[in-house]
Amino acid sequence: MQPSPSESRTLWFDQALLPDGWARSCRLTLADGRIAVVETEVERAAHEVDHGAALPGVADVHSHAFQRAMAGLTEGRGPTGAGGERDDFWSWRALMYRFLDRGGPEEIEAITAYAFMEMLEGGFTRIAEFHYLHNDPMGVAYADPAELTARVVAAARATGIGLTLLPVFYAHSTFGGVEPTHGQRRFITDLDGFADLVERGRGLVTGLPDANVGVAPHSLRAVTPDELAAMPGLAGGGPVHIHIAEQTKEVDDCLAWSGARPIEWLLDHAPVDPRWCLIHATHVTEAEWRGVAARGAVVGLCPVTEANLGDGVFPAAAYAEAGGRFGIGSDSNVQIGLAEELRMLEYSQRLSLRGRAVMADAGRSTGRALFDCAHAGGAQACGVAAEGLAVGAPADILALDTDRIGFAGRSGDAVVDSWIFGGDRSALKSVWRRGEQVVVGGRHVAREALEARFRRALSTVLAA
Ligand code: ZN
Repeated sequence: MQPSPSESRTLWFDQALLPDGWARSCRLTLADGRIAVVETEVERAAHEVDHGAALPGVADVHSHAFQRAMAGLTEGRGPTGAGGERDDFWSWRALMYRFLDRGGPEEIEAITAYAFMEMLEGGFTRIAEFHYLHNDPMGVAYADPAELTARVVAAARATGIGLTLLPVFYAHSTFGGVEPTHGQRRFITDLDGFADLVERGRGLVTGLPDANVGVAPHSLRAVTPDELAAMPGLAGGGPVHIHIAEQTKEVDDCLAWSGARPIEWLLDHAPVDPRWCLIHATHVTEAEWRGVAARGAVVGLCPVTEANLGDGVFPAAAYAEAGGRFGIGSDSNVQIGLAEELRMLEYSQRLSLRGRAVMADAGRSTGRALFDCAHAGGAQACGVAAEGLAVGAPADILALDTDRIGFAGRSGDAVVDSWIFGGDRSALKSVWRRGEQVVVGGRHVAREALEARFRRALSTVLAA
């Protein structure tokens, strides 16, 4: 389903978070997928529905959509953790590689569409898809090398989500340009092949409303310094995303290779600027996070996945207080939802710092500050403007059902706090994307068909 230009129509909300703060009794007039008029303190007309509390849609800055199919399958104690006896990130990754033995284009598209649908239901109206599955299960390029890229684009079209396509460059298994492993065969390209993939991606997203393309060097493990140097040019002004410092082993290996920590090395050797998004950045020193903040780059935090994988905790409170920018990603997609991610982020800080309301600031509650940062940082990381609910902005709108008992007696920031900390996911009742209502009553309008297709794909990839 593709949002199409629509006739002018209005949506009425009992409150709305506008760029300059909360307003009561708001009417948004939508035309051609954008907000054409914003009125406040206006009475609801007899024919208008009260949609509750309006928030601007937020971008999910990091996802590997196909991993949604693995949710709940990697919670046993694995015997092969590279870090020793414990089940850790590296044994999770080994399971993910085995999972990739199955799964052709149809399965990848079905799983991706299902994940994108859940993102819309969870409050994400745009996705930066860090797309690194390029080859077939044998590790051979498809007849059309952009086959799987086209499937990601098709999944975005089927759900209506905004797409920032990030083709991933992945060429090596660890620092120093080491040959890739068998498990990585579906990810590998050379620089020429990758440049073609990026170019094909640009062609494929033509016609998808406000889609754009960037590049993603997978990590410092997977690219050499020369290859990394080619990336900003290939991005053509689009965003550049990279996994970095997610694991202590990665920090140790980087130190052994270069004498520097991963983020320290990146800041010294790459033109990191506001176009860059550093995914995870978990194991970071104060000098490193201050360096990232000074460059104006975004840190892509994935709190639920980082907790699920046992990665560690990024010092978000100190970083944000110093003006550091961050966005939120759903990464492994073990669970998908903006409120869940923001809650996990705040709670990880509280547990580390033994304090409350850690991400709040003088003017904003915890939930409001988290939401604003995720909105602004998400847009920046996707290379789009963070316009919010303003005249001329894309009509990407979330609506919380303020009739629910969990919102009784709440207004303004307390609504966002109650959603994030006290609500259930069905509190997010409606979502509009480019002016089209894609979530009604908490369910995506195409859920039935997308769910059936996902179920068929699962039966293939999970077959004994
Ligand atoms: Zn990732």
